[in-house]
Amino acid sequence: MPGSAPHATLNGNAAFRRPAGKSNQIMDVIVIGGGIVGVATAYQLRAAGHRVCVVERHATVAQGATYGHGGTVLPTPLDVWFGPTFMASRQGAKNGVISKTGFNGPARQFVKQLAALQEPEAFSRQYARLRPLIEASREAMADIEARFGLEFEQASGLLYLVRSEQEWQQTQTALDLLREYEVPHHVLTPAECAAYEHSVRTEPEFTGGVLFDHERTANCPLFAKLIKQTLDTEGGVQFMLGCEVSAIRLEGQRASVELTPRPGANSTAARSREVDVINADAIVVAAGQGSLPLLERLGLRLPLHPLRLHNLVAPIAHEECAPHVAIVDAIKRITISRMNHRLRIAGGAVLQSAGQIDKPLGEALTKEALALLGQATHDWIPGAARISAALPWEGVKLLSPDGLPVIGNALHPRLFVNAGHGPAGWGLACGAGKLVADLISGKTPDVPAHTLAALRADRFQ
Ligand SMILES: Cc1cc2nc3c(=O)[nH]c(=O)nc-3n(C[C@H](O)[C@H](O)[C@H](O)COP(=O)(O)OP(=O)(O)OC[C@H]3O[C@@H](n4cnc5c(N)ncnc54)[C@H](O)[C@@H]3O)c2cc1C
Repeated sequence: MPGSAPHATLNGNAAFRRPAGKSNQIMDVIVIGGGIVGVATAYQLRAAGHRVCVVERHATVAQGATYGHGGTVLPTPLDVWFGPTFMASRQGAKNGVISKTGFNGPARQFVKQLAALQEPEAFSRQYARLRPLIEASREAMADIEARFGLEFEQASGLLYLVRSEQEWQQTQTALDLLREYEVPHHVLTPAECAAYEHSVRTEPEFTGGVLFDHERTANCPLFAKLIKQTLDTEGGVQFMLGCEVSAIRLEGQRASVELTPRPGANSTAARSREVDVINADAIVVAAGQGSLPLLERLGLRLPLHPLRLHNLVAPIAHEECAPHVAIVDAIKRITISRMNHRLRIAGGAVLQSAGQIDKPLGEALTKEALALLGQATHDWIPGAARISAALPWEGVKLLSPDGLPVIGNALHPRLFVNAGHGPAGWGLACGAGKLVADLISGKTPDVPAHTLAALRADRFQ
């Protein structure tokens, strides 16, 4: 591990004091990626007593997909990215996903695999596997908040709205799951939606809504930065920012990463043109979209597919029209959440072939995706946002063909993956980080075996 100073306070602070009865083997762990998943993993590893080094190619954390999140913290059965409502309609972007896969074989195969989960029983089975991770994530977040009293623009209340009767029918399996798992919620008529949230209009007609008054929205990049700040203060985690991992080496019992020399950097590697290598007891790949090439070089090909998502940050046009809870277009998966005097509108998914993802989207498609966001805002809360003055942003998320992230050990005893959380990955990151930290510590994670198996990388083989 590079440098020793950051580890000087190991086990020396109250917040991270190692709980009695835990394994005492302290490891050096490299986490690749400084998005919410990497930062949350580093936090949990540190809390378990390990020494951690986070390598991030940007100058600070939360600059990838994490930067553009839509605000929802934990997914409900209504907004996981699989199931009866996901890409259910084949007509244009009525389902909120602009599909431009063309004749690309792997992309079409990916859509076909996800479509299999539209069948209610398959959806319920898959949600049952994900649910323990959602609950573990809820607990992990609550624990962090209780320890450090972080403020990251938390706001309670999400109101999911559904347009047509047919779409309402498609949400029934999700509503059944809410009842089965006793998730607190209220099914509302359009009039009740409008009475609860004054900014929602009952004209044109819509079918109904589901209110989660205990679920929350918040600011994900702010949360990630606060966690980093906490780790900087507590010690034990070193952030190597502006450094890119070019390869992972797994030789016998040894694990290490190679760093790309930065142009103009005054490091030994840049001067000698040699590659900087750092060794560790374990490596966690939590590099979002960047995880795939790193793993492919090791011979692990994960069938995760990139999905481009958009958001708009728009000034509030008329305060009296602005919502006081987050509004979610349940079928188009568009979230409108308030941040002070602005609205953050996120969604507008574009599904392309994987080979297209590094190229610019093009003006026409970008316009089409942003128009979905503008239209949803106009449909549900007319007059609330000044869309003409909104700032657009786009980011790429990895989605798996079975809707679940990839979390756990892979290929080699020292290699761990934490990626593919899809467009509902923020809150999940906290539970996923805990799970990885438990596995590295040799501790049995607090989630059932069927969930662990459903998250493993080798489930695709
Ligand atoms: C527009 C949009 C809206 C969203 N809305 C929501 C929402 O409302 N709720 C929700 O839960 N989720 C939402 N998501 C999804 C959520 O943001 C992601 O699931 C989450 O941010 C994933 O975090 P990550 O750390 O895996 O990826 P990232 O944030 O992309 O982080 C990966 C990091 O790894 C770094 N990296 C990559 N390769 C390397 C390398 N070789 N060396 C060093 N560093 C490397 C990258 O620079 C990056 O910082 C949304 C996503 C988008 C794009």
